[in-house]
Amino acid sequence: MTTAPRPNPLLSDRDVDFQLYEVLDATSLCALPAFAEHSRDTFTLLLDSTRRFAREVLYPTYRDMDAQPPSFRDGRVHVHPLMRELYPRLVELGLLTATRPPDVGGQQLPLTVHAVSTAYLMAANLSVYAWLGLTLGAAHLLEVFGTPEVKATFMEPMYRGEWTGTMALTEPQAGSSLADVRTRATPAPDGTWRIQGSKIFISGADQDFNENVVHLTLARIEGAEGGTRGISLFAVPSRRPEGGTLVDNDVRVAGVIHKIGWKGIPSLALNYGESGDCHGWLVGPPGRGLACMFQMMNEARIMVGMNGVATATVAYHEAVAYARERPQGRPTGVRDATRPQTPIIEHADVRRMLLRQKAIVEGGLSLLLAASYQADLAGHGQDEATRQRAGLLVDLLTPVAKSFPAERGFEANALAVQVHGGYGYSSEYLPEAWLRDQKLNSIHEGTTGIQGLDLLGRKVVAGGGAALQSFAEEVGTTVARARAAGVTPEWGEALEQALAETTTVVTELGARGMSGEVELMLRHSADFLELFSVLAVAWRWLAQAAAAKEALERGDPDADFYEGKLAAAQYWFAVELPRVPLLARLCRTGEDSYARMRPEWF
Ligand SMILES: Cc1cc2nc3c(=O)[nH]c(=O)nc-3n(C[C@H](O)[C@H](O)[C@H](O)COP(=O)(O)OP(=O)(O)OC[C@H]3O[C@@H](n4cnc5c(N)ncnc54)[C@H](O)[C@@H]3O)c2cc1C
Repeated sequence: MTTAPRPNPLLSDRDVDFQLYEVLDATSLCALPAFAEHSRDTFTLLLDSTRRFAREVLYPTYRDMDAQPPSFRDGRVHVHPLMRELYPRLVELGLLTATRPPDVGGQQLPLTVHAVSTAYLMAANLSVYAWLGLTLGAAHLLEVFGTPEVKATFMEPMYRGEWTGTMALTEPQAGSSLADVRTRATPAPDGTWRIQGSKIFISGADQDFNENVVHLTLARIEGAEGGTRGISLFAVPSRRPEGGTLVDNDVRVAGVIHKIGWKGIPSLALNYGESGDCHGWLVGPPGRGLACMFQMMNEARIMVGMNGVATATVAYHEAVAYARERPQGRPTGVRDATRPQTPIIEHADVRRMLLRQKAIVEGGLSLLLAASYQADLAGHGQDEATRQRAGLLVDLLTPVAKSFPAERGFEANALAVQVHGGYGYSSEYLPEAWLRDQKLNSIHEGTTGIQGLDLLGRKVVAGGGAALQSFAEEVGTTVARARAAGVTPEWGEALEQALAETTTVVTELGARGMSGEVELMLRHSADFLELFSVLAVAWRWLAQAAAAKEALERGDPDADFYEGKLAAAQYWFAVELPRVPLLARLCRTGEDSYARMRPEWF
């Protein structure tokens, strides 16, 4: 039996406004020439229409789509029938091209505002949004790297919402290690390429709600060198334009993956060129396929992070509402069974679980918005120095912004199940579905293990330490703001201490890497990622505490909202930040329990 979901705000509008306009100064972006057409009013317009659609249209479809995944019949995938109606309406919101310039039909909206708008859609029904997100990513790649012919043929129908797109990277032997991609491309006399090979797990690779799918496919040009440098990028449609019509392009669905979540979008095994007639169009220079993909990676990973935040946030709101209503037990020390039961939110341990969720989801949202803000500056800042500095910062923050909401978001989703007790373990309630959905975020777009290696092996030492230096400056600005606002001074001091400890770890590990001890340098990359996540989220909680304190000082009547912020900040500084010294010690000493563990000892 299923029941209609209770109303859920998905994200708190109050918190979104706070993060955009009190913690960050999102309207300051409008002073940049690229965003000059925008104002808080245009931001609100988009946010309002997206929120309304998410709450009124998308959210009510989630349960049914989770229960009815796409089916595979007669060689074709049949998606949930509602997609025929939902996709065009999603496109109408304008989010496909919102951040793109006017020459491709866009509004040049800052990513900061776009990212938080899409969070409402993800919280409402993440796999419906995924169709749009994948199409946006594929079309954007073509916009940046495609020839005029490729743009006109493939990008434009995707931006118009007539076709969808995919990212086709993974192969059975090439998941984390894309250097092992084997799909082949051979030149054809007409200037296109013939593609042959197999991909797996490709999301959205077939559908029956519009007329075509374009797969942005990694393949190796015949004779190209091995490794990542030999990989090129191709646009490969399921149906290719020929003689004024669309004809079959020899891309076959070889199987459907039966997944535990994201049920509204299929993930498929694909065979290209079984009949030798699969045409591909080269995108970007030969051998630069991965480089092209990676140029777009920050944005894609920020969107995955936002998905993690959204999926944990909708569950958090559900848990708070449930805890307010569910009567069970009596306050500690009350033995009188004739007294009415108390709502479980009155129990300290339930409040602990809710506060931990709040600290994770609102800390995560703040981190995502800070990273998006830097991405906007990196793309459109007023001068080269600003763009470069912001570029380094967004590179540094991205592995954390991707993995923190995925890993801690999964924990927050599990806490939402726990708050529901036995009912949380039942599929009549939604928290279990969000828990299943959330798990993917630590796997796709680079697993958490790969994010840790990327952060410690590359990002944190980038620019000869310039990235970390810029991060330290940002932390310094926040500490000064918090001090001026009258925030508990110990929090700022603890943050500076943790930052100093992190810098020492980076210096020592960097020296090990330079002296050739790469294994020792990277051994605790997962712990370093955890350390940096705790630190970065503490930075965001201090920024929120400063904004909250400023509001209370000026007598803002919304005291409950701001007191809640200060309590969550206190939680992070009391419970999470003190973990930094332990994590730092593991990294610095190269503690070797798992390094010396032999496969046969397990
Ligand atoms: C539902 C779903 C949708 C997907 N959608 C798409 C899509 O649209 N397009 C696409 O191209 N792909 C897609 N993927 C594939 C996804 O990106 C891969 O599953 C992911 O990159 C991991 O690859 P793998 O599954 O081969 O795991 P592996 O690479 O085999 O990893 C297994 C484990 O080993 C660890 N590991 C691997 N290498 C290292 C290393 N060098 N150091 C330390 N640890 C390591 C990993 O962290 C992981 O924990 C999707 C996957 C799923 C499940």
